[in-house]
Amino acid sequence: MYDIIIIGAGPAGLTAALYARRAEKSVLLIEKETFGGQITHSPRVENYPGFLSLSGSELGEKLFGQVLEQGAEIELDTVTGISGEAGHITVTCEGCTHEGRSVIIATGSRHRDLGVEGEEKFVGEGISYCAVCDGAFYKGRTVAVIGGGNSALQEAVLLSEGCTHVTVVQNLPFLTGEPSLQNILAKRDNVSFIYSTVVAAVLGDDTFEGLLLRNTDTGEETVLNVDGTFVCIGQVPANQAFANVVKLGDYGYVDAGENCLPETAIPGVFVAGDCRTKAIRQVTTATADGAVAALAACRYLDSL
Ligand SMILES: Cc1cc2nc3c(=O)[nH]c(=O)nc-3n(C[C@H](O)[C@H](O)[C@H](O)COP(=O)(O)OP(=O)(O)OC[C@H]3O[C@@H](n4cnc5c(N)ncnc54)[C@H](O)[C@@H]3O)c2cc1C
Repeated sequence: MYDIIIIGAGPAGLTAALYARRAEKSVLLIEKETFGGQITHSPRVENYPGFLSLSGSELGEKLFGQVLEQGAEIELDTVTGISGEAGHITVTCEGCTHEGRSVIIATGSRHRDLGVEGEEKFVGEGISYCAVCDGAFYKGRTVAVIGGGNSALQEAVLLSEGCTHVTVVQNLPFLTGEPSLQNILAKRDNVSFIYSTVVAAVLGDDTFEGLLLRNTDTGEETVLNVDGTFVCIGQVPANQAFANVVKLGDYGYVDAGENCLPETAIPGVFVAGDCRTKAIRQVTTATADGAVAALAACRYLDSL
């Protein structure tokens, strides 16, 4: 039986593993896809302290290497559920089951995709989901922001400070973001809006060229040539498998604060990173959570 089973090997899960191993706990880290998590999709990370610039996959490799060095065990599998009781928790995967005294859920969240042809091909090379992360790469260039809610308008405000032009493309005939954000954007000469319009396809063979837009009322299609596109149509956490164990809040995020303690049916379950309710989803906040959750789990184990 492991002291701590960590579900998800993004920055939060990897940092939790690092702290847990340094506290001499036995650790199993289960990842379904990519050791390093979603940051591995980023071509350049320039806001992780200590590194002027490095690729997301480099950062992921460094975090992962450090965890291996510390002796955490790893498993490539998808966790499908958690059950059990205090001191004896069963983590069920597609392939097998594992037993642990405590569990840290660090399954992250992912952006909602446009789900149109061409999108996947240009992720990180024309298509981005995070202006805080990638906006600087489009300084002096033209971009589109897809979405009209708060996060899309915040992205548009940020991008309009460095880009020559920002086109906000909204599927509804009106914006749904806060009026204060709408007012800021309305005063900016380099921002325009296209309403009742969705993205029908992402254009380009080898390099990103722009978007094919479709008007939802008339069906008319037009081409929008831009250098980059920021998709801000919401995030999707994948916490449903844990809904019987931890309380999920709005939009399916695990309801927990800075202490990484969710309301849970099984004592010894903790949560870290983008998968919990929080205001800022970044590598720095995920790694901070990883440390907090691991130390909380260690304290819990020591009290058993
Ligand atoms: C393109 C892009 C660029 C970005 N750029 C930056 C940047 O420059 N700076 C910055 O600070 N942030 C950036 N971010 C955001 C940053 O990547 C996230 O905030 C951070 O990765 C969150 O870490 P996490 O560990 O909480 O979650 P994640 O990184 O999402 O990791 C969660 C892991 O859990 C795994 N998982 C999920 N469900 C299961 C399951 N059931 N079983 C097993 N494993 C599971 C997933 O496969 C994933 O690897 C960027 C994000 C993207 C997509």
